[in-house]
Amino acid sequence: MTSTSPYAFDRFLRYDELTQWLHDTAAAHPELLTVESYGRSFEGRDLWLATITDSSTGAHDTKPAHWVDANIHAIEVTGGVAALHLIHHLVDGFGTDPAATDALRTRTFYVVPRVNPDGVEWTLADSPQFRRSSVRPWPWHDAHLAQGLHERDLTGDGTIRTMRIADPHGGWMQSPVEPRLMVRVPPEGAPADVPCYRLLAEGDVQDHDGFTVPIASPPQRLDMNRNFPAGWGTGVYGSGDHPLSEPEIDALVRAIVARRNICGYNAFHTSGGVLLRPSSTQSDTALPPIDVWVWKQLGERGHALTGYTVHGVFDDFTWDKSDVMSGAADDWAYEHLGVYGWTTEFWDVIHRATGTPGGNHIWYTGPTDEEEMGVYRWAVANHPTAYADWVPYEHPQLGQLEIGGWDDVFFWGNAPSSMLAAEVAPHAEFAVFQAMCSPRLEVLHTSVTALGGDTHRVEIGIANTGWLPTYITQRARKEHLVLPLVAELSGAAVLAGSHGGLARQELGQLEGRVAQRFQSGKNDGTPERVLATWVVRAEAGSELTVAISHQRAGSLSVTVRV
Ligand SMILES: [Zn+2]
Repeated sequence: MTSTSPYAFDRFLRYDELTQWLHDTAAAHPELLTVESYGRSFEGRDLWLATITDSSTGAHDTKPAHWVDANIHAIEVTGGVAALHLIHHLVDGFGTDPAATDALRTRTFYVVPRVNPDGVEWTLADSPQFRRSSVRPWPWHDAHLAQGLHERDLTGDGTIRTMRIADPHGGWMQSPVEPRLMVRVPPEGAPADVPCYRLLAEGDVQDHDGFTVPIASPPQRLDMNRNFPAGWGTGVYGSGDHPLSEPEIDALVRAIVARRNICGYNAFHTSGGVLLRPSSTQSDTALPPIDVWVWKQLGERGHALTGYTVHGVFDDFTWDKSDVMSGAADDWAYEHLGVYGWTTEFWDVIHRATGTPGGNHIWYTGPTDEEEMGVYRWAVANHPTAYADWVPYEHPQLGQLEIGGWDDVFFWGNAPSSMLAAEVAPHAEFAVFQAMCSPRLEVLHTSVTALGGDTHRVEIGIANTGWLPTYITQRARKEHLVLPLVAELSGAAVLAGSHGGLARQELGQLEGRVAQRFQSGKNDGTPERVLATWVVRAEAGSELTVAISHQRAGSLSVTVRV
């Protein structure tokens, strides 16, 4: 099958185009893809959820599922492209790509390509405004502009760049080897006769006092990835009024918890070229060691497929261990759903430019001068619009200055158009891999034995043929987050049943193949199997049905004739 859409994942779609692409793709693959609205954004846009599975082998909610969402953060639009590419990879590969085909026959994918459509519309506007996430004014509701610098595209090139003001006490000077590039003045000061500058984001100064230029917070200070009910706290930047206070997050969480078959979670962000995992609030040493071990196994495959490095957020990506990030989606997925959550940070421009991954210091201190020089030279040679000449500009509050420099959002923060498709493509394979790690119910044994008269013994042997256990994580097992496997016989009078039940039997949880890792020696046993038996009274030749269901591992029914 081929896609009917000409979209080649080489640009960022505005909301109307995204909506059209989703519905066109669903119309081209009605047996594989449905699109529905699961809520509305603050500005009233429909929030789209794509459900992808081979409906001929069962409804979406009868199969284990993998959840992917993207663009909770407004400027991180590469993640949204990756989500659309995942949808395309699955529906386009069905019937030709064996892995995608097998995945859709046995698993379900739920993909939300744009958690935060309002914020992305502001990012992609002709005159953009870059916000962390939501466009809802917060914490004050009047959207007033605080005193100080507010970012805005003054020159009309569709990009917010940098203002350069000559200032003998400024912290920047021209690079001695690349004069357009600005480098930091060293601690002892600039060499004699080298002019220094102060750098400010392109924008207006509200209530300028003629001397200071405070960097003002925008009126929209929410960070919706701090609004989840996982260690939520008001001390965290942008957390919102209370957990789930934002309509986008309330709708997202409700959509997820309504789909009890979800076995894995992955949020798509930028940037850094890293696969991040919980916990954001505590060290690996505080987590169940089996969960950490499984996460590392998943991460090794993720690294092999994508080249991205793998990190626990608290241990590797939290500079100040006393100031942790709470209320994040992947932590919520682990703590409340008990599934392995991931946050993928797409795009590491330093790695692409220099061959050496940018480290986590980028998040705290920015690139080193050497890293920035490497990126600059690569940009000049390959992506010339990424760095603009310094052009004189008469600023209404600050007077004569220059505007130029980096396109931060669409070069440092997101992959350039020509590299987008290649950047996101391997991550579809990682999503398929994660989905295929999930537990999966199968019936491997059925038998009916006549006991005399119209009495019969019925046996159903059920197995989890997947890698992970039906409960997924030790966290979920310990907190009893997952309902037990149930088998229920109908069509006959039940005289006796196994596992303390009669017609309906609760069969607990089944281990997965991963359990053999934690056995001593090569002595597997059968912890992934259970045998359910019934003694029934039924006329010879009648049909009995056994419905087998587990919220995560799947649902099926078998028919036996006595
Ligand atoms: Zn983000």
